[in-house]
Amino acid sequence: MADTIHCDLAIIGTGIAGMAAAIFAANRGMSVAQAGNTGSLAYTTGYFDLLGSIPATDEGGKATPVNEPFKALPELLNAFPQHPYRFVDEAGMREAFTELTDFLTRSGLRYEGGGETNHRLPSPAGTLKRTWFVPATMRPAEEMLAGTEECVIVDFAGLKGFSARQIAANLSPKRANLRGETVRLPGPGGEVYAENVARMLETERGRESFAKVLQPLIGDASWLGLPACLGIYRPEDIMDDMERRLGVRIFEIPTMPPGVPGIRIKEAFEEASSGMDLRLFRQQRLVWEDQHDELYRLRVTGTSVERQVLAKNVLLASGRFLGGGLTGERTGIRETVIGLPVQQPDSREDWHRFNYFDQRGHKVHRTGLVCDESLRPLGNDGKPFAQHLHAAGSVLAGADWMRMKCGAGVAVTTALAAVKSMK
Ligand SMILES: Cc1cc2nc3c(=O)[nH]c(=O)nc-3n(C[C@H](O)[C@H](O)[C@H](O)COP(=O)(O)OP(=O)(O)OC[C@H]3O[C@@H](n4cnc5c(N)ncnc54)[C@H](O)[C@@H]3O)c2cc1C
Repeated sequence: MADTIHCDLAIIGTGIAGMAAAIFAANRGMSVAQAGNTGSLAYTTGYFDLLGSIPATDEGGKATPVNEPFKALPELLNAFPQHPYRFVDEAGMREAFTELTDFLTRSGLRYEGGGETNHRLPSPAGTLKRTWFVPATMRPAEEMLAGTEECVIVDFAGLKGFSARQIAANLSPKRANLRGETVRLPGPGGEVYAENVARMLETERGRESFAKVLQPLIGDASWLGLPACLGIYRPEDIMDDMERRLGVRIFEIPTMPPGVPGIRIKEAFEEASSGMDLRLFRQQRLVWEDQHDELYRLRVTGTSVERQVLAKNVLLASGRFLGGGLTGERTGIRETVIGLPVQQPDSREDWHRFNYFDQRGHKVHRTGLVCDESLRPLGNDGKPFAQHLHAAGSVLAGADWMRMKCGAGVAVTTALAAVKSMK
């Protein structure tokens, strides 16, 4: 074996759960080896949801929107006792998000939030979404929505899945004096990607030509809403610069995935990783081999150099179907890395309900790993599969993040709880 890496912790996955776990572990002096690709990070809006709704249960009922997430936790756990929030308390949730958002802020991505109430900010479709921590470049939308001054929302010809007119129309019942406009960006035309615009705005020349095409649309507007595209690094500085050039207040609205907010987080993490005791294998996989003298042996694949990792602890943060941690097969849902038992309906017939919009949701969204109090996945005998193997994030059973609006919340809070329970 050409290269053997010894570490305190091997993290399988570089989505929000894996990334947060690496930061938490590094802050606690642990050495880490980690592999994975972007997972659903590229899909995130940038909003960090803790709990936005308590949906109908299997028995029925209606979804209850959540304004105060901590007050609603007992009700959530009462309705869904298997939810992973049973493993974390309020103090642990706050600690996890403070630590992660402090890290992001130090990396130039300032996050705001973390109070008692959820923020309500526009989704890419212009509906209002309840969320807990938000990028500082998106937060001003809240102030805009509470005011009356003219606001113009702009999209770009060729940018798919983001319509300024649709967003303005959807927000209009809540806020008068909104209009949607489309601009044609300089360049060859055709399809436009938010990431390319963001990279263009990293340059002084790019911002100058962007301001030139936007200026004629401003008119009497005091506010300008843009698809999330204000650079990859230090977006607040780019926002300030554009505000100065255009003489308006600006806010970003998330776009359909893949979006710039996830790319920002990924790049900030990768840049900071060189200052941590972290061996990061990007776009590679870890294969679980065996346990050897109190150490777990894993193999890094996807590279021509053969490497093995010998770790005291392992964290499975491999995600669900999109991340690749779970896969649906003819006979059932399988956990892909170790082959752990997956809590799932007895029959495939029960994965989905007949009506797509059934208020009770689809059971497949709550499948995943069952763990003990220390977030150790259970084996077929109901005991922890391995003494120092933990799991975090969306691979855990019980959270239907789409309906509960708890995606980042589960990922970040269980990552800290798992890291803290490691020896
Ligand atoms: C379209 C969309 C929009 C969303 N919007 C929001 C939002 O606005 N707010 C919010 O809070 N949440 C949102 N979410 C949910 C949130 O993104 C997820 O809940 C969260 O990202 C889950 O993180 P995770 O780290 O558990 O899994 P993932 O992000 O899926 O990461 C799994 C990781 O495991 C890796 N992996 C799998 N197998 C292996 C292996 N063998 N070796 C190494 N690595 C492996 C993958 O490569 C990946 O890096 C959204 C999700 C989607 C899809």
